[in-house]
Amino acid sequence: MEHYHCDQMMCHSSDICPQPISSAEGTEDGSGYEEALDIVEINKDLNLHEGDIRLMTGRDRNIVVGNQFRWELPVPYVLHESLDLNAKGVVLRAFDQIRLKTCIDFKPWEDEPHYIVVIQDDGCWSYVGNQHQGNQSVSIGQWCDHLAIVEHEFLHALGFWHEQSRYDRDEYVTVVWENIEKGREHNFLKHSSNYTTTLGTMYDYTSVMHYNKDAFSNGNGSTIITNLPEYQDVIGQRLEMSSNDVLKLQKLYNCTSAVTFRMSCSFEDERVCDMTLCAAGNTSWERVGSTKAGPFSDHTSLSSQGENQTESAHGNGTANQNGGGSFMHCSTVSGKEGDGAKMQSRKMNPKRQIQCLQFFYFHSGSDKDQLNIWIREYDREDEETTYLMGQITGPPTSHWQLHHVSLNATRPFQVEFEVRKGAGNSLGGFSVDDINLFETECPHHVWHIPNIDHFLINSSVGTSLLSPRFITRQSYGLQLLLHLYSDHFGVFFRLVSTDHDDQLQWPCVWRQVTVSLLDQSHHIQQRMSKQISITTDSERTFIGDSGEIFHYWDNPRKLGHLINDTNRESYYAGPNLGYRTFLSLDAFRSGNFIKGGSIFFFLSFDDLSTLRLSGSDPPKPQIWSNMNHVTLMKTDDKGTCLNQMMGSTTTIVTPSFISSFAVSLPTGTIFTMLTATVALISGNLPLTL
Ligand SMILES: [Zn+2]
Repeated sequence: MEHYHCDQMMCHSSDICPQPISSAEGTEDGSGYEEALDIVEINKDLNLHEGDIRLMTGRDRNIVVGNQFRWELPVPYVLHESLDLNAKGVVLRAFDQIRLKTCIDFKPWEDEPHYIVVIQDDGCWSYVGNQHQGNQSVSIGQWCDHLAIVEHEFLHALGFWHEQSRYDRDEYVTVVWENIEKGREHNFLKHSSNYTTTLGTMYDYTSVMHYNKDAFSNGNGSTIITNLPEYQDVIGQRLEMSSNDVLKLQKLYNCTSAVTFRMSCSFEDERVCDMTLCAAGNTSWERVGSTKAGPFSDHTSLSSQGENQTESAHGNGTANQNGGGSFMHCSTVSGKEGDGAKMQSRKMNPKRQIQCLQFFYFHSGSDKDQLNIWIREYDREDEETTYLMGQITGPPTSHWQLHHVSLNATRPFQVEFEVRKGAGNSLGGFSVDDINLFETECPHHVWHIPNIDHFLINSSVGTSLLSPRFITRQSYGLQLLLHLYSDHFGVFFRLVSTDHDDQLQWPCVWRQVTVSLLDQSHHIQQRMSKQISITTDSERTFIGDSGEIFHYWDNPRKLGHLINDTNRESYYAGPNLGYRTFLSLDAFRSGNFIKGGSIFFFLSFDDLSTLRLSGSDPPKPQIWSNMNHVTLMKTDDKGTCLNQMMGSTTTIVTPSFISSFAVSLPTGTIFTMLTATVALISGNLPLTL
C-alpha cells in the first residue's frame, strides 16, 4: 500500500484564489505521480533482443517480414487477467487509434487459430509479426501502459522492427558505439536487406518505432546521432504512430482505407469536399479566406501565435501572416429572421453505431443566430429522416472554437451544418473549418486554454493552471492541473465536489481518466496527440494532517481542501495524481499543439469496472449529447441547393435527449479562463439514446 501526504496545489488565501496558483513544493513531494519511462529504461534488466523483442526459439533471428508474418484481419485478441486494469483501457484506446488511421481492426478472440494475448509480464515486449504459434503474447508490463508504448509493441506484433535497425539507417543516423553500455552493442545491429524491407518508405525520424538518442547509453553521451541535427531531439517520440508508420502499415497490409475514419475537410479545395450548399432566403454558405467581423483567417493555416495578431495585420491592410487558407462562412448580416442555409456532406455509410463530428467554428453574428447540426439518414427505400443532433447559439466568440457532436447514425447518412438567422443585429455570421468525422466516441470534456504563451511567459516554475470543474457523466466532479516545470509540463487530475456528491458511490474507483493534448493538424489521421491514462484504484491512500489514513478517491468533501474561486464558487478538492513529465517544452513547441495561441486538452472519464472480469467484452461506447438545449426548426425547408437536387421526402425527429450540460468558457485572457467554471448538469444523468 502506498502512502502519500496530501500537500496539494491549492489556494492559500482564504476567499479568493490567487491566479495562477503557486505550489512550488506541492507536486514535488506532495501529490502522487506516476513515472513516465521509455521502453529501454523499463526493460533495462531483461536483456531482450533490441530492448523489447522476443524471438521464437529455434528460428533464424532475422526473419523476413513478408506475407507469412501478416495477420488475418481483424486480429483476434485476449486481454489476459494478469493485465493491469489501466493497461486494459490503454490497449483498447491504442486499438481505436490504429482503427482510426489504418485498415487494421481487432476483435475479441473466438477460437481463431492464431491470436494475440496481451499479458502483464516483466517489461514491454512483443514478437515481430504473426508467428503462427496459436496464442502469441504481447507484454504490457508495469510502466508500459502508455498509448505510444502499446502502439509500439503492437507494431512489432503486426510485423515491424525498429526504425534505427533498417539496413539503410547509416545514411540517416550515426551509431556512437563507444557510448553504448558494454554488452548491449547487439541492440544496434542492422537487419540485412535480404531479410527485411523498408516497403519503399523514407527513413522516419518521427517513427514511434525509433529509439531515442540515449538508448543503451553508458552515460558518456548519446548513442544515436541523427545526420540531420534538427531531428536529434525528435527521435524516440512517444506520442503516437507517425504518418509514415501508418503508411508502412497500409503497405504491409495492402490497404488504403481506415476502419473508423469517415471524413475530413479543411475547405482548402474549391470542391469543398463534395459538400452540397442549400439556401432558403437571403443567407448562403460561401468559401472565403477572411471576414470583416471575424474570423480574420482560416483555422487550418493559423500559426501558433494569437489570433489578435492576425487582426492587426488585417487592419493594417498588410498580407495575412497566417497562410491565407479557406473556410466556410455564412453571413447573417442581411436577410430576415428565419432565413437559413445548409451545407450537406456527401452520403456516408456507418460501420458502427457511433460517430463523432468534430469541427472548429467562429461565431460573429447575433446572439440569436443558430448553427444547427443535423443528420439525414436514408432507409432502404431512400426515405429520409432528419435528426437535430446539436446546436450552437448565444454570444459571439473571439477565437476559433472547437466543438464536438456525438452522432448515432445506423444507416447511410449525411451531416448538415445549418445556419439559421435569428432576431437582432448581426455584424458577421457563422464560420466552420477543419471538420473531422470518425466512428469513435467523442472526448467527454474539452479544456480550451487560449493565450497559452501568456501563461508560459509570465509564470514561474512551480505554477499550476487549474481547469474548470468538469462534471462527468456519472456526476463526479473532475479537475485538471497543468503544472509548469523548468523544461516540461506535468499534468494532474483530482476529484472535486459537486452538488451530487451525496448520491454517488465512494470511493470512486475503477474509473479511467484519459487526458490528451490535442495535435491541431487539420486532418485527424495526421495528428500525434499526447495522451495519458490513469485508473483510480482501491489501494491508494494518504495520511491526513492529523495522521489519519484516507482513501485517495474518497469523497472530496470528506478529505479535500476547500477552494473558493473568483466566481464565488466554493468546492472541495481531493488529492492530485498525474504525470510530472507529461511533455517536454521542446516537444510542445515542435509539435502542432498550439494554434492561434490556443491549446486544447481532451478529457474522458470511463468506468472500467466491467473490464475487471476476465473474458468480458470491452465497454460499449454510449451516445451522449453535448448540446445545451434543443429547439426544433419550424420547417425543414432546404430552399435552393447548389451541386445537386435533393429528395423531397423528409421526416423530422425530435431528439430524445434534451437535458445535458454545456461547458462554457470565457474566451478572454488566461486569467479569466483560470476561474471559469462549467455549467452544471440539468436533469438526471446518465442518459442514453
Ligand atoms: Zn521495440
